[in-house]
Amino acid sequence: MLSALSPEKMSGQRRAGGEVVTTAEWEALCRRCGQCCFEKDLDRRGRVVTTRVSCRHLDIVSRTCRVYRKRFEVGEDCVKLTPTVVRDALWLPEDCAYVEYVVNRRDR
Ligand code: SF4
Repeated sequence: MLSALSPEKMSGQRRAGGEVVTTAEWEALCRRCGQCCFEKDLDRRGRVVTTRVSCRHLDIVSRTCRVYRKRFEVGEDCVKLTPTVVRDALWLPEDCAYVEYVVNRRDR
């Protein structure tokens, strides 16, 4: 989901409330639960459900990506999570650290 750290990416991005968060701070939010790396489907009511099918690059035991640094190059449609993407990503679970962060920032 998130890109590897590099000096040029440490410049930060806008928080919902206008503050700047560095890439390192942003990446540190992730709980490494791996829920975002399982395929999603819609049930008959149109609700997003998480399937048991994971990305082939997810280590099921550690719940970490085996190709994290080059995940955007391996053709799995991995999405880079940013505050803007997270705000619109209904497929992310409610207890995703980024969803909680964005929701909490919105409530301020
Ligand atoms: S669901 Fe959220 S907290 Fe869990 S691994 Fe994915 S980005 Fe990190």
